[in-house]
Amino acid sequence: MINKSLKELKEGLASGEFSSVELTRFFLERIKQFNDDLNAFISVTEEQALAMAKAADQQIAAGNAGKLTGIPMAHKDLFCTDGVLTTCGSRMLENFIAPYDATVVEKLNAAGMPMLGKTNMDEFAMGSSNENSYFGAVKNPWDLERVPGGSSGGSAAAVAARLTPVATGTDTGGSIRQPASFSGVTGIKPTYGRVSRYGMVAYASSLDQGGAFGASAEDCALLLEAMSGFDERDSTSVDVAVPDFSAHLNEPLQGLRIGLPKEYFEEGLDSGVAAVIETALQQYKKLGAEIIDISLPNTHLAIPAYYVVAPAEASSNLSRFDGVRYGYRCEDPKDLTDMYMRSRGEGFGAEVKRRIMTGTYALSAGYYDAYYLKAQKIRRLISDDFKQAFKQVDVIMGPVAPETAFKIGEKSDDPISMYLSDIYTIALNLAGLPGMSVPAGTSNNMPVGLQIIGNYFEEAKMLNLAHQYQQATDWHRQTPASFSGEQ
Ligand code: GLN
Repeated sequence: MINKSLKELKEGLASGEFSSVELTRFFLERIKQFNDDLNAFISVTEEQALAMAKAADQQIAAGNAGKLTGIPMAHKDLFCTDGVLTTCGSRMLENFIAPYDATVVEKLNAAGMPMLGKTNMDEFAMGSSNENSYFGAVKNPWDLERVPGGSSGGSAAAVAARLTPVATGTDTGGSIRQPASFSGVTGIKPTYGRVSRYGMVAYASSLDQGGAFGASAEDCALLLEAMSGFDERDSTSVDVAVPDFSAHLNEPLQGLRIGLPKEYFEEGLDSGVAAVIETALQQYKKLGAEIIDISLPNTHLAIPAYYVVAPAEASSNLSRFDGVRYGYRCEDPKDLTDMYMRSRGEGFGAEVKRRIMTGTYALSAGYYDAYYLKAQKIRRLISDDFKQAFKQVDVIMGPVAPETAFKIGEKSDDPISMYLSDIYTIALNLAGLPGMSVPAGTSNNMPVGLQIIGNYFEEAKMLNLAHQYQQATDWHRQTPASFSGEQ
């Protein structure tokens, strides 16, 4: 069961081989069996999942099933879910029951997908290792001493260990692609504006974008097409047609031009990771693609620019958590100031405070021009780099992260080295471009993802490229040994 694609699950449901209730129970059992090892879920919504599965079975019986009806899934715990705990990995929202559904949640509910639960994440999506969660670190299913990547580490680990067939995530600077790479699953962050941010707890609004995790590009295509689309409740949502991504997966790659940015292969890239990427590119050549050397000259500015823009937006977004309206409030405040200070002081973790302080500093009078405005100018230069590149090539490829999953605790005392793990992912968020991670091999026995970067709204092309590769290789079919046993 755990190796079935979404299409195969749909066939099984349609033919009556199993019901949605049985399928949902199967994954709930796996969560019970393995979540203690992984800490991938913050909440498991068993009752609701089974009720949704029952409704899905009725829909299937009535002949009204859609492509995903009855297939269970999980949401990153920053998508608001009506009546269900939505913590964002923070003590601040430890008891927050969302009063409404995020658009993405609404859409996947409407698609008939039973929600198994909410997945663990770095607090307010700030992190690259999932060690910043108030609910404890998530473990990598390939090696429990290692991180699964972050901030959507719970979703990545849950899919890798097949505790759920698919899951949602969000990516502000790499939080879908980097955990997908570290955990050996496929993940896609679409173009900014493709997926509604309504009901997604905001970290850095001009960068945040929801996306999908699955075992394969085909599964991601199916989930992403159900999540995407214009939403008038999100002013940055873009009103463009959503193609049936899953219907464009068999296009030939003959003559397709793949750009290799030289800046992505310079110092800092682990040689084992570089070797995996090199082999993947050879595979693409065999499939008929042409490899072209390109340059993205402002790559080195992406991390510094991001660490001004993202904290600036975060400091503003997180000002709503004041202990008054909702969220954590300290015990017995002396007065109003004490209440604000202690509620925020006790409710937020260290990394979140670090970002709020940096952001507030960058936006303060006198520093705004020196930091924030300058970072915005760099942001333009970075997107111009990509614009130039896409005149020469159809897609860009490279590593997702400079190395494979590191040990839990290895980088916790060194935020700068943690920030560097997003060196190849962050520029896309600054430019608003889509990117994905595709399992392409291993180095030191840990998974390595190949990054595919597309031009705006070209998710279909990227998913096809990933699917062609997955037809020719089987890296995406491998599952971590301790979690691959079937009951
Ligand atoms: N690691 C980056 C950060 O900490 C990106 C996180 C994300 O994409 N949400 O901000």
